[in-house]
Amino acid sequence: MSDKNNNYNNDTGHAAPAAGAVVLEAKGLTKRFTEGRLDVTVLKGVDLQIRAGETVAIVGASGSGKSTLLHLLGGLDAPTAGSVRLKGEAMSSLSAERQGQLRNQHLGFIYQFHHLLPEFSALDNVAMPLRIRRMPDAQAHEQAAHVLASVGLRERVHHRPAELSGGERQRVAIARALVTRPACVLADEPTGNLDRSTADGVFELMLQLARDHGTAFVMVTHDESLAARCGRVVRLVSGVLG
Ligand code: ADP
Ligand code: MG
Repeated sequence: MSDKNNNYNNDTGHAAPAAGAVVLEAKGLTKRFTEGRLDVTVLKGVDLQIRAGETVAIVGASGSGKSTLLHLLGGLDAPTAGSVRLKGEAMSSLSAERQGQLRNQHLGFIYQFHHLLPEFSALDNVAMPLRIRRMPDAQAHEQAAHVLASVGLRERVHHRPAELSGGERQRVAIARALVTRPACVLADEPTGNLDRSTADGVFELMLQLARDHGTAFVMVTHDESLAARCGRVVRLVSGVLG
């Protein structure tokens, strides 16, 4: 399914991160929500290091703060205390603009629901992050086609989301997350909306892509058997990781 010598691997000019280099690091992350009478401290000092090419499952009960943690790791929300470093840079010390640049350059996101643009083809959806970076259309399409082939969708590039199965839509979402060659992909219950066997296939694909491309994957999942297939499983209990 993947080809080490294709454009997707070689033409972005990015050197692969050194094996074992820390790509994403959280220290003492605390998140407290205070809105009106509401006052909940969801995270109470979370420490986590993600290394290049690692696959890490975050498990925990519903409401334990998994999505909150992923949002903080991705710089989509700010911690109440503690820090997130992405490729060694402390996110909170940067301007919003620079944070956005770093996020776009080094992170990919996959959600439980695919969030594909319904009126665009699979190819256009996957090419979108490249076109946002002002890559010329022809080149963006070529790279998008390569990544779609690597997730097994060579024959589906012109289909719109509504013309794809649930598993195929998630594979398009995976391709879209990977097309910019991020160091780390953050996935929030990426197979949570799929039936058992489709979920297995999509999950296995992510593990394989992590191995083939040295991309770290941090995956929130409810599913212990899927989690067990990751290189590492961390548990969020009472606001800390065990
Ligand atoms: P999980 O993904 O593990 O199911 P979440 O991170 O979504 O859990 O939520 C953890 C807790 O934080 C929940 O009790 C939720 O109600 C609360 N929470 C999440 N986001 C907000 C918010 N924006 N404002 C107030 N409370 C929130
Ligand atoms: Mg959640």
